[in-house]
Amino acid sequence: MKCLICHDEWVPAMSFALLLTLRQADVCCPRCRARFIRLHGNRCERCSRLSDQAICEDCIGWEKRKTVLKQNVSVYMYNDWMKEVINRFKFRGDYALIEAFRHDVRRVFDEHFSSDVFLVPIPLSSSRLAERRFNQAEAIASLLSLPMIFALQRIDDEKQSKKTRRERFVGLKFCLTGEDVAGKRIVIVDDLYTTGATVHEAAKLLYDAGAREIYSFTLVRS
Ligand SMILES: [Zn+2]
Ligand SMILES: [Zn+2]
Repeated sequence: MKCLICHDEWVPAMSFALLLTLRQADVCCPRCRARFIRLHGNRCERCSRLSDQAICEDCIGWEKRKTVLKQNVSVYMYNDWMKEVINRFKFRGDYALIEAFRHDVRRVFDEHFSSDVFLVPIPLSSSRLAERRFNQAEAIASLLSLPMIFALQRIDDEKQSKKTRRERFVGLKFCLTGEDVAGKRIVIVDDLYTTGATVHEAAKLLYDAGAREIYSFTLVRS
């Protein structure tokens, strides 16, 4: 097999377990696979950040601001390797790399969410989409085989740049498309959770549109 990431040839070990579960052999070689670090151990129960506190400082801050996001679940840690792979995937448009995440994404998602949820991928602006050819959040969501609702839209870049700096600072990144989310349990999907500002803003909009419970799921927690 050719590794999806480093392109080296490698021979997958044919194990009995693999045959039993009919699980497909990994798309990347063991060396590349070992560099992806799944989040484990002590984490903030709200945002998946590695932390000794049950709820981290950031999440206490979000709580004070009355966030409506119930929880963020992430799959991998943000290390140099992940940075490199994400860079290739997202900015250099290497869509095929999504396959390297399939197994872990599905497993972690299933551990935390039931199948009655609707996925809302974080949108890209139309100019970014044209540049990258695909939306990485939608690519991640597509691994889950669950219904997606395109409920959010980026507020046009152009309009944003015409605003003064101060207006931009207080301005929102998203608006609603009018797709129906009322009464639904929603999982917002994105590639990265860093400060959380993006998903908390998205959650607020969806809540105002009547969504019942809102969570987020991201590939990486940085
Ligand atoms: Zn490799
Ligand atoms: Zn937290």
